[in-house]
Amino acid sequence: MSKPAIDLDNLPYADGDFYSFEELLSDKERSRLAEVRAWLTAEVRPNAVAWWNEGSFPQSLIPRLAELDSMSPVHRQGYSNLFAGMMHAEFTRADTSIATFIGVHDGLFTGSIELLASREQQEEWLPDIYAFRKIGAFGLTEPLGGSDVAGGTRTTARRDGANWVLNGAKRWIGNATFSDWVVIYARDVEDNQVKGFLVDTSLPGYSASRIENKIALRTVENADITLENVVVADDFHLKGANSFHDTNKVLKVTRLSVGWQAVGQQLAAFDVARRYAVERQQFGRPIASFQLVQQQLVQILGNAMSSMGMMVRLSQLEDAGTAKDEQSALAKAFTTARMRESVAAGRNILGGNGIVTDYEMAKIFSDAEAIYTYEGTQEMNTLVTGRAITGISAFV
Ligand code: FAD
Repeated sequence: MSKPAIDLDNLPYADGDFYSFEELLSDKERSRLAEVRAWLTAEVRPNAVAWWNEGSFPQSLIPRLAELDSMSPVHRQGYSNLFAGMMHAEFTRADTSIATFIGVHDGLFTGSIELLASREQQEEWLPDIYAFRKIGAFGLTEPLGGSDVAGGTRTTARRDGANWVLNGAKRWIGNATFSDWVVIYARDVEDNQVKGFLVDTSLPGYSASRIENKIALRTVENADITLENVVVADDFHLKGANSFHDTNKVLKVTRLSVGWQAVGQQLAAFDVARRYAVERQQFGRPIASFQLVQQQLVQILGNAMSSMGMMVRLSQLEDAGTAKDEQSALAKAFTTARMRESVAAGRNILGGNGIVTDYEMAKIFSDAEAIYTYEGTQEMNTLVTGRAITGISAFV
């Protein structure tokens, strides 16, 4: 008699939540998370590989995202940062590119408005942003200013009566090929401080061109932006964005959500590798029956759970209002290092099929590289933490 096939969905820990972290959410949050997970399973995951192979953003998803109504879970909807983090991990588990689109539109762009715009500006702009009627981007990085952009912003803002005139270039700006607005961070030539501006992408002198040939996050459209004498009315200067210290308020929160992306990425690798290991037969047996394969699956789970434990605690500190920059920095550095190990193990478990996108894992493996670099590289987040524990800055 042949053995019954293993019903993976009904095994203990089928959801990968080995330590029941989800139980820390309120009942309302758990049921909302289940709703979002079901939506992602139906709307995103089945299409994600095709979108990625095509290499352009699926515009048809935008009205569906508006219906899901997941924007600004903490600031607008009153959920905890813990819930927001777990939801962002779920987006990533379904597809890292779609999570990154949300991370840019909701986290970096909307976060800039929520944290740095005046009340009047927020009242005017946020309704369209929350409803996805206006799509946003976040323009900080420059062709010559990446890790050192805080002190090295070259894009300039010059006050001219009731207006500002912006000149310069930005690189890697997600969503900016089609976004309606982009928050541009530029150095005021008067006081040398980095200020933030809401720039309408139809303004004369603004242009954006798509960065081609990416090996990661192919569904996200990243752009090179050029600003040539772009005139922005002072009403579009974010009233609370007057130094890089202000910009950092946004980055601290978004770094938290990138740590959660690293969790989602590892859970995605776990899902795909576990299923493959149980189904793939070699030597007349599922490869999951080999001890060395089980060891690799357990390594992925252990990495994912240690990352999740760290992110849960950091989110709780954020909810308590006490999370520090360096705590976000260490979490981003640690979870993305574990993520790199996990996706490599997952890729290995799929053998040759791990390098074709048809089996999902190649997409998961490649997308991890972008997460590893954006929101502060491994080295920069390590040095931010190093500065906190020694009192000595190794980079400025
Ligand atoms: P560099 O700063 O040139 O660094 C190159 C290498 O040198 C890295 O390994 C770095 O760690 C190392 N290094 C640099 N300085 C030091 C030091 N002092 N000590 C040790 N090592 C050092 N930016 C935006 O503004 N908006 C976006 O929407 C956006 N989206 C992105 C999407 C993707 C897919 C990617 C890849 C990037 C995105 N970025 C975005 C930019 C991202 O934040 C930068 O890539 C990142 O900050 C690193 O800058 P860089 O690429 O210029 O690398």
